[in-house]
Amino acid sequence: MKFLALIIIVIIISCIFYSFRPFVNRGDVSIANGKEAKSKAEDYAQQREMMVEQQIVARGIKSKKVLDAMNSVPRHLFVPVVYRRGSYFDQPLPIGSGQAISQPYIVALMTEMLDVGNDDIVLEIGTGSGYQAAVLSTIVKKLYTIEIIEELGMQAAELLKSQEFDNVEVRISDGGLGLPEKAPFDAIIVTAAASEIPDPLIKQLKPGGRMVIPVDNNYYSQDLLIVEKDEDGNIEIKNTILVRFVPLVKGEKITE
Ligand code: SAH
Repeated sequence: MKFLALIIIVIIISCIFYSFRPFVNRGDVSIANGKEAKSKAEDYAQQREMMVEQQIVARGIKSKKVLDAMNSVPRHLFVPVVYRRGSYFDQPLPIGSGQAISQPYIVALMTEMLDVGNDDIVLEIGTGSGYQAAVLSTIVKKLYTIEIIEELGMQAAELLKSQEFDNVEVRISDGGLGLPEKAPFDAIIVTAAASEIPDPLIKQLKPGGRMVIPVDNNYYSQDLLIVEKDEDGNIEIKNTILVRFVPLVKGEKITE
């Protein structure tokens, strides 16, 4: 009889213990042990590989530098925890403050259009999450990136530093004015929708350099333009595809 009671108590204690177990490792920022953390990283690496094959190679991106960058940068770290499961999906995602991280394919396409290499000094306007900056930083010598919303810029700067993207410098200011003290740039990438190509950016482009920029059209979207400056300073503009970005706003900086 006593033995039976003991067995029942053991069963009850086991049930209580197991019913609490699921709560122990809940969430993305879990107290997972080494093995689980490793399998999560492997899982993201696998999702990244599929993203590159199915969304980027399949749509015609060929540059090895770009494909390697898209394969190596942990996009999930640049996405808010609540959206992390969708980090590698074929879509943009909210990053807070009404802004968005671009769809992976658009990041790859704009990076390929920029056609930069490891000697190049590049300027990005619209740091946002810092993801496009991280992708570019694996390819270029130095990247300056400007964000107008202070909180987003600071967050991105911290993340980029913690992930050792050491050749990136984040500035908080109006990117439409460029960064005259570091100009001229081999390339400029604008990741917010401009109503027209800002003059200061054209001035800060090196002869032989190029800019990739979405500019408003009459169809509630933007034309993704490649702006090339030749050695004599002449400008040639190529219109590529339709895109949709959040607007490039004017002002000193935005604090919330
Ligand atoms: N490249 C980003 C996505 C950009 S979203 C990424 O990889 O996540 C566009 C960003 O441009 C937003 O964060 C917005 O705040 C910023 N922005 C808008 N106007 C700006 C301006 N004038 N100067 C600098 N950043 C600006």
